[in-house]
Amino acid sequence: MAEILKGNVVANQIKEKMKQDIEELKKHGKTPTLAIVRLGDNPGDISYEKSIIKNCDNVGIKAVVYERNVDIKTEELIELIEELNKDDETSGILVFRPLPKHIDEEIIRNVISPEKDVDCMHPLNLERIFEGDMDGFAPCTPKAAMEILKYYDIPLEGKNVVVVNRSMVVGKPLAMMLLKENATVTICHSRTQNLHEITNKADVVVVALGKAKFFDEKYFNEDSIVIDVGVSLDENGKLSGDADFEKLSPMVDKITPVPGGVGSVTTSILLSQVVLACQNM
Ligand code: NAP
Repeated sequence: MAEILKGNVVANQIKEKMKQDIEELKKHGKTPTLAIVRLGDNPGDISYEKSIIKNCDNVGIKAVVYERNVDIKTEELIELIEELNKDDETSGILVFRPLPKHIDEEIIRNVISPEKDVDCMHPLNLERIFEGDMDGFAPCTPKAAMEILKYYDIPLEGKNVVVVNRSMVVGKPLAMMLLKENATVTICHSRTQNLHEITNKADVVVVALGKAKFFDEKYFNEDSIVIDVGVSLDENGKLSGDADFEKLSPMVDKITPVPGGVGSVTTSILLSQVVLACQNM
């Protein structure tokens, strides 16, 4: 039976460290404050927002929601972000994505102050990751996957790690983080041929397709370590990862569950970056 790499213990460790840092900041009269910019009332955004606020309350971060109409003009959104950039009380800014279609994300990415960019939208912060500088803000999901690998002492140096995803929010930055740890990284995507042959030879496989239970026994062996970033609904409407957990957990060496794996660490990473932004102010 595989070792189940649960995310909650990783998240708790990050939260404990955060609480100490927040206590320290409060001694100096500073309260880490996250500005959440939400456009419209998409249920997914509202549920994510509630979970962020709950987590903020839990560790002592102030969260302020800036709700605007989904029809907001680009200029109005720029004005709001520029106000938050200047506001001394605001440590970090999170703009929910995807943005409505009429707003060019490229413009917004460049408006948010790189010093308050806790969700790593700004090209400058992404550039730092690609240059191998991991001390600033990082995209939260790949960083969460890295924190899980670190917490469970999974060796990466010289290991073959396959990432099945090439998006800018997951696969590409994750590949850079893995390279920084001296892993040998292969990125796969929808045009990759014989995917199972590549994943089968890897020491660690990170899957992030967004297709429930796509990966079965064919893709892995008994030494495989599977990090599942995918989140989607299966045929019964149940939250599922890309890996078929029921089939794989008796067979592989280690695996993250969904829910309860990478996703449960992501918000803690976001909040730790709010604390970092406040420390740097
Ligand atoms: P995305 O942009 O749609 O990327 C999906 C990737 O999977 C693409 O690189 C795509 O290849 C590849 N792919 C699709 N079908 C494939 C196939 N049959 N074989 C091999 N590769 C295939 O999605 P994303 O935004 O990166 O998110 C990916 C997943 O992660 C989603 O389930 C999302 O919900 C989840 N996610 C989770 C968290 C979390 O905190 N846990 C956060 C963000 C995202 P191409 O590039 O060739 O199209």
